[in-house]
Amino acid sequence: MTSIGFIGLGRMGSGMALRLCAAGLPVIVHDVSQEAVATLVAAGATSAESAVAVANAAEIVLVSLPMPDIVHDVLLGPNGVADGSAVKIAVDLSTSGSIMAKRLAEGLAANGIASFDAPVSGGVAAAKNGKLSLMASGPSEHWPAVEAVLQHFGTAFYMGEAPGAGQTMKLVNNLLGAVAIAVTSEGMTMGIKAGLDPARMIEVLNQSTGVNSATRDKWPRSVLPRSFDFGFAAALSHKDMKLCVDEEEALGVDPKFGRLARDLLKRTLDEVGPDADFTAMAKVVEADAGLDPDRPA
Ligand code: NAD
Repeated sequence: MTSIGFIGLGRMGSGMALRLCAAGLPVIVHDVSQEAVATLVAAGATSAESAVAVANAAEIVLVSLPMPDIVHDVLLGPNGVADGSAVKIAVDLSTSGSIMAKRLAEGLAANGIASFDAPVSGGVAAAKNGKLSLMASGPSEHWPAVEAVLQHFGTAFYMGEAPGAGQTMKLVNNLLGAVAIAVTSEGMTMGIKAGLDPARMIEVLNQSTGVNSATRDKWPRSVLPRSFDFGFAAALSHKDMKLCVDEEEALGVDPKFGRLARDLLKRTLDEVGPDADFTAMAKVVEADAGLDPDRPA
């Protein structure tokens, strides 16, 4: 078997690539960060100097990159995956949106390469533990080969042949996830201002109908301890909500809640800082209500 190529070894990509190494599979990696590459090499991966060098050695190449434009450049730009001599299938694990997925599929097809979008949900811990959910679309004849790799990362759902179907599914998921943080910020701030204990509120919500992914995971791990370090950059969550709003508008859906989440994330970047975690949305809502967002736990 040829190596599996993996480009983009950040918060999510490193966890997934490490799982391939741990399963004893031959993995060839590339990242612009040498530190990220070194971690994988220490785990048994081989490193390559460029995206095309990965694609000269691997029949299947996975990418997990921050922004859609970077995915486009790494796959279709100069010295990109599409120029590789060995690659037959390229899989985008990033959240890049369905419009980009269609562009990628066209560009890769022109080079005889099958394209899959397979964005992931679950966060850093799930990437490390193989508990992600993956939403994939691409040519059905290649799905068994792709699924055989993706099953190392968690549960892979095949959403059909149409390029971008997986991306649309992922944007729906992230809409619900981001809006859950926004609405939980509002409800928790209301309770705190009325004198309720935040830890007790989360305990009650998690046994009641208000339970959601923010009350269940984000508040206990990152908001109640005031660490705001859940592991997903507000900048990337903002990118997701921009993609979501654009796609809703293109489909004739009024993006009421998508716009709210997008705009709150923009304020989080402006008011908390460009490196803020997406859980810091809570700080903006608290500050608007006159609470000190930098108070200790
Ligand atoms: P990250 O910023 O931690 O990692 C991105 C990696 O890509 C970095 O190691 C960076 O050095 C590398 N990179 C950037 N440009 C490159 C290039 N031109 N060539 C090679 N490597 C390059 O991002 P992340 O949090 O791992 O997210 C990756 C994707 O997964 C994003 O699309 C994000 O929206 C999505 N995602 C993230 C999470 C999460 O919880 N972090 C969850 C689900 C989906």
